[in-house]
Amino acid sequence: MSTLNSAQEAVDTVANEAIVAALQQTFAVGGAIINNATGEVIAAMHNNVLMPFPGSGTPYFLPHDPTAHGERQLVDWYYENVAPLNLPPPSQLTVVTTLDPCAMCAGSLLTAGFNVAVSAIDDYAGINYNSQFTFPSLPPQIRQKAQDTWGYYAIAAPVSRAYQGSNSPVFANQTIDSAAYFLCSSIFSASVNTVREASNNSGLSPDQLKNPATLPANSKVRQALTALSPFALTVQSANPRDPGAELAPPLLKTAQPNPKTPVFNSVALIDPFGNLLVCLGGAENQSPIRTAFMETTRGYAVMRWTLMNDPDPAVRAEAAQYLTHPKYGTFVFLYAPDPTTPQAVMTFGAYGSTMEGPVPQSYPSNLQYVLLPGNTTPQALSTLAQSLPPFYTQSVQVAPEQVLSQDLINAVKNGV
Ligand SMILES: [Zn+2]
Repeated sequence: MSTLNSAQEAVDTVANEAIVAALQQTFAVGGAIINNATGEVIAAMHNNVLMPFPGSGTPYFLPHDPTAHGERQLVDWYYENVAPLNLPPPSQLTVVTTLDPCAMCAGSLLTAGFNVAVSAIDDYAGINYNSQFTFPSLPPQIRQKAQDTWGYYAIAAPVSRAYQGSNSPVFANQTIDSAAYFLCSSIFSASVNTVREASNNSGLSPDQLKNPATLPANSKVRQALTALSPFALTVQSANPRDPGAELAPPLLKTAQPNPKTPVFNSVALIDPFGNLLVCLGGAENQSPIRTAFMETTRGYAVMRWTLMNDPDPAVRAEAAQYLTHPKYGTFVFLYAPDPTTPQAVMTFGAYGSTMEGPVPQSYPSNLQYVLLPGNTTPQALSTLAQSLPPFYTQSVQVAPEQVLSQDLINAVKNGV
């Protein structure tokens, strides 16, 4: 990997990653982990939310992984490689990015404790969407940490932005040229609407969808669901937005404490027929940002993408007929995220990235939880959701709600 000497070189490096993402027709954003002491580029990555089907021969794009933003991938890459590569702690490293991180990535970076340096602003989904550099979406406990570790490079004329933020990131207080800034900003703007629409519109509406509970045992779709989650298609709720006590055993058994995964939580995805499709726990032993929601939404998306990229056209057709976009289903958390933690910002952000646009309006919300952690109140959770950048409050309308069924709440309380 190369060694860099200036903010300009750092932004040029991540802008090249954004160009690769643009050519892949996904969100054109790139980032890199840079060693503060040496300027060494430790890892560089770009967005991989959309990926073409290499096998199908058609230029058809589907969300491969709604959590595959450059920065979130860099955080998980770091935890996979910190021991084998003997990497310095995140406090001695900076994630440099072309674009102000979204809520998911901001929460991921703050969970890990990286320094962050940014080129362009995203006035819709970025964590400093209003260009005031005050982190208005973050709860107070987290805001100070962001102000202590994040910076926005100065930009020369004609943009003429002063350096904003802390002295901790690599190449803090340095200036980049306006051309680099405009490249980071315009390449993202050119990509964002088409990628959002492709993500939000992928999948049949429930009236056209077939019920996967009717699939035979030898169906590849059924086998893929069961391989991902042992409880897949074993439980059906009468109303997909109002699960009852039938959901308690999968949630509790999936969250059974494993000595390697001490966080007790799980998240289920229910389809429009009320079928439990996926129920997974977290993998925080591998990376602190691999929470139950991240595992569930990523697991479902990657499984669906893989089936719809199967060499056999019959499998691709079956996947399209039986599996649809999660916006038509319901996510049910055993425990809601703790709104005082950066993981909660990440979780709501990842939910927004999973939806990538409006969710069909119905009551109740398709983002539900059975229990609240610790001393949390529903108001604290709603306040965090309503403080998020405009994309999450205006387009996705993140609205966590407790499940309606007292039977489910009681069954879980009895089992915890
Ligand atoms: Zn992001």
